[in-house]
Amino acid sequence: MDKINEIEPVAVLHIPKCLKSGKLYVSDYDGQAVHLCACGCGFAVRTPLREGGWWFLTDAEGKIVLRPSTLGLELPCGSIYCITHNRIEWLTREEALQCNTTTDSARRAKEEEIHTASDASR
Ligand SMILES: [Zn+2]
Repeated sequence: MDKINEIEPVAVLHIPKCLKSGKLYVSDYDGQAVHLCACGCGFAVRTPLREGGWWFLTDAEGKIVLRPSTLGLELPCGSIYCITHNRIEWLTREEALQCNTTTDSARRAKEEEIHTASDASR
């Protein structure tokens, strides 16, 4: 599989057994999002969405922002990235450490920013 630069959210009841590259499966029921690693290694990346886990936002166009990065997941391939408006943002370890320190207040600020940006684009 090839490295991907874009990922599309798919809302599902349960995470399917067979995952497709380029899709981020989000299950509110299971409280997690799963996608195949963007580097193309085929590893299923699980990001719990419950408290203290990952969080994601959907903007006005239905694109997703997923934070923090994959750094804390210790992927076997060593890939580090986060998702911003459906784009895979590749990060260095240093950048990821900064990104991972995102606090709740930063999250709220980001939510504001996204909402403001989507209001402005109307
Ligand atoms: Zn990988």
